[in-house]
Amino acid sequence: MNDKVTGCISIGATNTVNDVIKVLDEIPSRFYSLTDHFYQDGKLLGGDELKKLERRFMIEFSIQFSALFKEQGSYQKLEYEFEIPKRFMFADDCNISIRNTFEKLNTRFGREVDMLKYFTTEPDFLVHAGQSVMDEDGQKLIIEAKLNPNLNKSEIFKDIFHTFIYSNQYNFQCSIMLLIHINEKRWLKTFEEYLDQGYYQGELESSKKIFVIFKASPEGKATAYNLFELLSPPTCPKCHQKMVKRTARNGVNAGSIFWGCSSFPDCKDTKSLTAKEEQNENGFS
Ligand SMILES: [Zn+2]
Repeated sequence: MNDKVTGCISIGATNTVNDVIKVLDEIPSRFYSLTDHFYQDGKLLGGDELKKLERRFMIEFSIQFSALFKEQGSYQKLEYEFEIPKRFMFADDCNISIRNTFEKLNTRFGREVDMLKYFTTEPDFLVHAGQSVMDEDGQKLIIEAKLNPNLNKSEIFKDIFHTFIYSNQYNFQCSIMLLIHINEKRWLKTFEEYLDQGYYQGELESSKKIFVIFKASPEGKATAYNLFELLSPPTCPKCHQKMVKRTARNGVNAGSIFWGCSSFPDCKDTKSLTAKEEQNENGFS
């Protein structure tokens, strides 16, 4: 386990996640930096300029990735791809939950769906070439990078939505979202909100293949999360039933939230929230 990594990634594909973090350490800082070029009147330019930056970052990522791993032959070449989510959103036999989420996200702020724009968006993520031959755990990769610190909620929702599509509908063994300048607390909170809205998330099992990695610079610490772990409650250490969030009614901790065994009152075991869960409960400002 890379000691520069915190967060929760104990489930599956951790070697792949660590390999991706090794690549992130190799990318020179100029690819991370939001230089003056991306600002106007002290305000960060959004849209196309940021897209260019994300693409530049991913090209460098693929170069460093090949340099690190081509010798050992454990990964195939990474290529750009941009048709995957569309295939599932516009297919006649489209999953109803995908269709509903797509429509809700596109009308969320009263905007019409711009189909043409959706179809002509340039790729900003990488997938393995020759995917059909990749059968080892976590070796069939899809990687996407987000560098815009001002990503709005609807953009974050769309990223999460697409990521769920990759792992559920396209059978990627490992889907990784690189969140380079994105505020971790804010993103995690937005993820919870995405779930609360009942948007598409596919099978819980598929979320074992999805990871998000936060990192702001080559020297900076990486934080990685497995989505399955974010989605699933812990198991009671005593009787192995699922645990549920409860609020303390009495005592010095009254009002605070903790994990309690779902078979209460038969089992009275409790567990405190992790620091991360605590942060999520308290929200962000
Ligand atoms: Zn229990």
